[in-house]
Amino acid sequence: MVSEESERLQALRQEVRTWLRENLPEGWGTPAYVPPPRGTAEGQAAGKEWSKKLYDAGYTGFTVPKEYGGIERPREEQAVIREEMARTGTPPGAATLGYLAVAALMRYGTEEQKKRWIPKIMTNEECWCECFSEPNAGSDLANIQKTGVRDGDEWVVNGQSVWTSSSKFADWGIVPVRTDVNAPRHRNLSFFVFDCTTPGFSVKPLRQMTGDAEFSETFFDDVRIPHGNMIGAEGQGWYVAMTVLEAERGGGMRIGEAAAGITVTTLGGVDNFVELAKNTKRRDMVAWDDPLFRQRIAQFAIENEAIRASTQRMRVKAMKGQLTGHEQSITSTYRREKNQRQANMVAEMIGASIQYMRGDPRALDDGSWTYTFLRSRGNTIETGTTEINRGIIAERLLGLPRTRM
Ligand SMILES: Cc1cc2nc3c(=O)[nH]c(=O)nc-3n(C[C@H](O)[C@H](O)[C@H](O)COP(=O)(O)OP(=O)(O)OC[C@H]3O[C@@H](n4cnc5c(N)ncnc54)[C@H](O)[C@@H]3O)c2cc1C
Repeated sequence: MVSEESERLQALRQEVRTWLRENLPEGWGTPAYVPPPRGTAEGQAAGKEWSKKLYDAGYTGFTVPKEYGGIERPREEQAVIREEMARTGTPPGAATLGYLAVAALMRYGTEEQKKRWIPKIMTNEECWCECFSEPNAGSDLANIQKTGVRDGDEWVVNGQSVWTSSSKFADWGIVPVRTDVNAPRHRNLSFFVFDCTTPGFSVKPLRQMTGDAEFSETFFDDVRIPHGNMIGAEGQGWYVAMTVLEAERGGGMRIGEAAAGITVTTLGGVDNFVELAKNTKRRDMVAWDDPLFRQRIAQFAIENEAIRASTQRMRVKAMKGQLTGHEQSITSTYRREKNQRQANMVAEMIGASIQYMRGDPRALDDGSWTYTFLRSRGNTIETGTTEINRGIIAERLLGLPRTRM
């Protein structure tokens, strides 16, 4: 007997399927589909349009209360939506790190700050970047050298960041700044939101081995930031930054989102590897006939389910308003190392084809496997290195003795 509950969810499932059929870009999921180039204004515009469509349909923005533009839905509905999105895959959203600002604003922002910034993050109308890492402050974030000096109602900020993702397209940024050079570590920083069009802020893109320039060096030369843009109290910036890093490690405010991302694709399983293995000739057989490849693919399917279960557990906690904090380092580390192992397996499977990049007529699937292989190298560095995450797991979760450097 089908219960009333499951009928309601089945109807929702059908609704989402139909919506996706009608709204996904033409040819999506087929070789005929040519995505707009990544990291270009065209790609960014397409990402913004897609994110807005998802939001308008009620398929994203789940983790934020309604008064700040979030979409509140029962947990089981969110799960159905995410599953359907994962089934078809979804185009990438606009490049933005706004969800990190949401984490800081929800915990430390004033009512006025929350209402000003969060709704347009939900719809992706305004895009964000995160200016944390500096040439001498990456893992050791407390060593930030950027300075801020108060001048009336403004702070004058000077210094440099590096690895600033999405800065090419950002409208707003978040930045911890040393506002008291005499205060001890962890009490000398304040945390700001700044307008990326402010005079003195400049962006110099850095090209990666994938060919993209996802991140940039960013410079602050006498950038004036209104005092009203300080998030949290003066000197509390370290703690605000830690909230952002916790959110970043676990997909944070993105947990439960329907937008494309690692959280969703893990649910999609390994179909693409199965397909690839069945279509890849290796000597006198196809890769799928090789039991070693089949075993490795099956292992990834198992690991995906384990990550999914852990992510679900954290999502439930997050939705109850409980911080998942250091636990995020477990899934984050596992997922990112798995991405690299998957990419390595594909490289072995397709052999010499891994050399051909996008645009080369000899490239397999227009070089998308090669792109993934090269991009995955950054997975164990971005959002905090896996060494740092292992340290967090050891010290904060397992209670092992702290390292003294
Ligand atoms: C694709 C990508 C996107 C990024 N986007 C952003 C962004 O948008 N904004 C931003 O602010 N940053 C961004 N970053 C930067 C990223 O957060 C830093 O690269 C990272 O925190 C490491 O800092 P670092 O590069 O200075 O390396 P370092 O901190 O100098 O580390 C060098 C090596 O030493 C190891 N190490 C350092 N300290 C310890 C320790 N205590 N214990 C054990 N090992 C240690 C590290 O694991 C690493 O292997 C991005 C990075 C990448 C790859």
